[in-house]
Amino acid sequence: MKVSTAEFFRAAEEKKDYPPGEYSELAFAGRSNVGKSSMINTLLGRRNLVRTSKTPGHTRKLNFYLINGRLYFVDLPGYGFAKVPLEVREKWRPMVETYLTGRRQLAGVVVIVDARRPPTESDMSLIEFLQAYDKPLIVAATKADKLTRNQMAEQKRTIRSAIQMDVPIVFFSALNGLGKNELWKEIKKIIE
Ligand code: GDP
Repeated sequence: MKVSTAEFFRAAEEKKDYPPGEYSELAFAGRSNVGKSSMINTLLGRRNLVRTSKTPGHTRKLNFYLINGRLYFVDLPGYGFAKVPLEVREKWRPMVETYLTGRRQLAGVVVIVDARRPPTESDMSLIEFLQAYDKPLIVAATKADKLTRNQMAEQKRTIRSAIQMDVPIVFFSALNGLGKNELWKEIKKIIE
């Protein structure tokens, strides 16, 4: 997709702060430090729209970005980072679950995993949660630049056998752009 405009719209914690209107939303979720900010920036062709952070767990709200004036990317706070204080982690779950289960405009979720490893327990609980709510999802395995083609094929089988569902699995790299077009293609299928 050609991205003409992409801008930060707002950060929200509660329902009342979600953007008004009927534009479709696509959410991005992943373990802290998995490469979520880099993925969103790469998809949008922007260097630093979403702040990549060396401090895992630093994005703690739902961040809405307006794309081409008619679609929102929703950057969900990263999960599964032990150094985040317990009270913050306890806020994460209701905030994210309320959004994922109650937001009519939410067209689907990109779940980002590390291409080099099997999905973690937190990855799997998110994937199972989304499957239980019948939310379309795409698994994006990032940092794939660290793998050879053969390793990618092997990892794809590992991920597929862990999730046991026919969801798209796209190998991606923010470093060399691998998978960018394929991921956009899958995104278009769920937002259109
Ligand atoms: P976030 O916390 O999930 O938003 O992760 P970031 O996008 O901030 O990335 C975390 C770290 O992984 C940073 O050091 C990035 O430079 C690195 N990183 C992100 N994407 C890639 C990628 O596709 N390939 C490689 N090799 N490193 C990446």
